[in-house]
Parts: sequence; C-alpha cells; structure tokens
Amino acid sequence: MKSFAELQLIEPLLRAVKEEGYLVPTPIQAQSIIPLLEGRDLLGCAQTGTGKTAAFTLPILQRLSEQKKIELRNAPRVLILAPTRELAAQISQSIKVYGKYLHITSTVIFGGVGQQPQVHALSRGIDILVATPGRLLDLLNQRHIRLDGVEIFVLDEADRMLDMGFIIDIKKIISRLPPKRQSILLSATLEPEVVALARTLVHDPIHVTIPPKKETVESIQQSVYFVDKGRKDSLLLKLVADPTVKRAIVFTQMKHVANKVSLLLTHAGIRAGAIHGNKSQGSRTATLEAFRRGVVRVLVATDIAARGIDIEGITHIINYELPTMPETYVHRIGRTARAGAQGHAISFCSETERDYLRAIERFVHRQISVVRDPSYHSDAAMHATGAAARPPPKGNRGHRGFRKTGRGQRHRR
Ligand code: AMP
Repeated sequence: MKSFAELQLIEPLLRAVKEEGYLVPTPIQAQSIIPLLEGRDLLGCAQTGTGKTAAFTLPILQRLSEQKKIELRNAPRVLILAPTRELAAQISQSIKVYGKYLHITSTVIFGGVGQQPQVHALSRGIDILVATPGRLLDLLNQRHIRLDGVEIFVLDEADRMLDMGFIIDIKKIISRLPPKRQSILLSATLEPEVVALARTLVHDPIHVTIPPKKETVESIQQSVYFVDKGRKDSLLLKLVADPTVKRAIVFTQMKHVANKVSLLLTHAGIRAGAIHGNKSQGSRTATLEAFRRGVVRVLVATDIAARGIDIEGITHIINYELPTMPETYVHRIGRTARAGAQGHAISFCSETERDYLRAIERFVHRQISVVRDPSYHSDAAMHATGAAARPPPKGNRGHRGFRKTGRGQRHRR
C-alpha cells in the first residue's frame, strides 16, 4: 500500500491531508494522483465515498502551485463542473481544506441564490472555479466569466449530469474551453452515453475503475437463470409471487421494456410502477415515494432513472435484462443488502446476453451460481458462444426475428 508521500505530493498538501486524519491514500487516490500530476487525462469510474474528490483536487492544487501564475481577471485556470449545488459546495470545501497551506484562490457558483456575490468573487480573479452548469452558462452569457484560460477541466458525476438533462449545457461549456488542456471525467457508471461524452473530452486517458465497497457486494446472494427471451415474463411473475420478495427493483435496459414489464406485473395484480427517462419528474418522484412507503412493491427501472435512489430494505434486485457494462451490474446490485442486511440479486440471461454475463463474472471475480429450474432453464443460453452469445450486429437486426428497435443505441434510457 502506498503512502501519500510516495505519491510525490508536496509538503503543504501532505500536512493538510495529515491534519484531516487520512493515513493512507484510497485506491482511486493511489492510482490517479501521479498520472494527474504528470498532466495525463483521466477517465474514472468511482462513486462518492471512494475519496474521488481528493484524488483530483490534490494534484490540481499541486500543479497550480508549481506553475507560474498568469493573472487574468474573470478567467479561472481550473474549472470543476458538478451536477448539484450540494456537490459543488462540498468540492469547494475540500479545495479549501486541502489547499489551506497554499496560496490558491477558489470560489463556487451555483443557481438558486443571488448571483451578485458570485460575480464579485469572480472579478477578484480566482484560480479554481467550481460550478453547476446552469449558473455557469448564465454568467458566461453575461460575460462575467471567460473560460479561455482554463488549463484543467473536471466533469464530476458525469452520469448524474446526463441524467439531469445537462448534456446540451455541458457541450456548450466544453466548446468554450481551450483545446489544449488537461481533462478529468468521473462517473459512477460508464453508460454508453457517458462513454460517448468521454470520447469528446479526454485524450489518451488513464482508466481507473473502483467497484463499490466489497463488503456490500459480498453480502449479496447472486444467482442467474439461463432462460429464453420469451420465457422471461413468466419467470419474473413466478419469482415475484414469492412473499419473501418484499421490496424489489427490476432492471431493464430500455424504457419500453420497463413499461412492458411494469404493465405485466400490474395486470398480474402485483403493485408495480416504472421509472425511466420518458416519465416526467413528477411521475418519477411519485412512483419512488410509493415504493419507499411500500405501496409499490416492485419498481421497474432503467439504469439512468434509478441513479441515486437510496431506499432501505430492498430485498431483491432482478436483472430482467443484463447491463452491457459490468460496472453497471455492480451498481445495480449494490441497491440491496444495505446496512448489513442480506440481499438477493437474480439475473436473467438469454442466449444473446451470454457474453455480458461472462464480462460481469470476470469483473466481479466470481462465478454467479446458476439456478436450473426445469421449467425455465435454457441450455442454449447457458452454452452460447461466439456470435450467438451477443446481440446481432446493427445491420442484421430484423433478419433474425429480433424486435425492430434492436438493443441499446437507438433507444435513450
Ligand atoms: P469522496 O468520495 O470524495 O466524496 O470522499 C468521501 C470521504 O472520504 C470524505 O469525507 C473524505 O474526507 C474522506 N477521505 C478522502 N480520502 C481519504 C483518505 N485517504 N483516508 C480517509 N478518508 C478519506
């Protein structure tokens, strides 16, 4: 295990970190700090609680303190974008704590409060600006700020940004940045949308992936059913009929499948509701509240819609469709077995999802135990290899009797 001193951090930072009581770097810190000090771009997959803020803040502070300062009014040298004002405020606080023995200036701007004090702080000239996208764009449009002096750009919680509909704002902001810069993107999951955004942002990045806390994943009983696509509905109904399934989330890849599954359950007399990107914020909040209170027993959700849900007492996670990214599997199943309780994660794997399961097993370093229910078990799914184990390539869809809409790309989640 590395120490902070081995990460080539300068004394004023080591002192601040020590005063915070940090003994050793967390894995994301151990893996990111040196490459970031060297100026590399970073694509990090990590959740809150992993120490990700210090992982990018410490090298940023060090780089700023080591490089000659170019004084420009209203032009920060570092821009950190965060999806919410709470997170922006938290990052800003961390910068103050870690940078207390350096002469680096920083400020935070976000919406919902008067902009005048923020404008005033900017006009004094600052090194690091932490901002939420909406307020930053307002101030950019009013020419209270310019981004042509940005040397380092951080996009924190990129998945949440996309979920909250900030993509257009983010693209506008990125277009104002100088092309020559260091870029850092952090996200709890690497959804295809996040990967697409990352491609436009980071160049030759180092990749760091921190799976959610191990203890959590280990207290989850994971199992998989190999089942033909057409038999998934019937299997799902059978499973949720079990009274030990007290509070469950069923995950699907696509919005229309979430709707279909929710209807299936409702017609069978099970209290279910769906949340996904096509539902209004009001409808999502109402469904979540009903789920929290136990009025809805089975929540059907797509990954993006389910992000950030933290509800106690979830007994079962059911992967009606396997995620395409293994990190997403870990993220999904982490919703159960909170606070030491035993949780169950049950996955359905059809023939064309076989390779997704293989990728998941490699990622979690274990084989997921197979339930061979004679009424449902499909040997074809279990033994699928090669082209049969994956969704057909884009051009072939339809020829093999798959739904016209295909998987993934053409459907936003
Ligand atoms: P974050 O993932 O950035 O939200 O950080 C989660 C929490 O971990 C914060 O309260 C940090 O103060 C704390 N933290 C960050 N790095 C370390 C470390 N190396 N050792 C102990 N705690 C840390």
